[in-house]
Amino acid sequence: MSTEILFQAKRNELVAHLQQKGIHDRALVKALATVPRHLFFTDSTLKQFAYEDKAYPIEAGQTISQPYTVALQTQLLELKPQEKVLEIGTGSGYQAAILRAIGARVYTIERQKKLYFKTKTLLESLNISIDTFLGDGFKGFPPFAPYDKIIITAAAPYIPRTLLDQLKVGGIMVAPLGEGKTQVLLQIKKLSETEFEQRDFGSCSFVPMLAGIE
Ligand code: SAH
Repeated sequence: MSTEILFQAKRNELVAHLQQKGIHDRALVKALATVPRHLFFTDSTLKQFAYEDKAYPIEAGQTISQPYTVALQTQLLELKPQEKVLEIGTGSGYQAAILRAIGARVYTIERQKKLYFKTKTLLESLNISIDTFLGDGFKGFPPFAPYDKIIITAAAPYIPRTLLDQLKVGGIMVAPLGEGKTQVLLQIKKLSETEFEQRDFGSCSFVPMLAGIE
């Protein structure tokens, strides 16, 4: 069996597992079955584990999020094709690629220079059309604001007001909140310029969201 066919078989198994865990959004399921997660691994010895439902280390002490976490965060965004999404924490680029595969216009920010350049190059080489920026996600990205959706993929010590301001009324933000080893996954709906509705979707574990670039 060729490696690609083997990876596709493993990917299908992973998707079935995610569906059993409650991932049902059809466009998302299709994206998960299509995007080759193994290509987002920097350590080639770990590629064989790419379709395990686990987080793995990538460059610069960071991680590629667990597939279930990526899937749940994406489902909670209630994404429609063509929507404008801002992602904080590009990391490996896998989450951004899933958002793009659903048809969103994706803007993603990474604070670590080395990772930023590496992932930008990878996404370009895969012909995945995503706008990547080096910057501090606490500030959001004003040039393309407001966004329909915002996803934070690092543990936020608090929900930055700047990001809520860059969200459209009627928009949704999904973010892990907390400074401990685990955080709570929040879905925040912006009802008006001053009113928000927040729902808690259980515990998750992310690397910390840090200020400044490095
Ligand atoms: N979405 C990524 C998850 C990567 S882990 C993926 O699919 O692989 C979280 C990433 O957030 C790390 O790369 C980290 O460097 C980055 N990060 C942390 N704080 C940030 C900030 N303030 N602004 C932008 N990126 C940040």
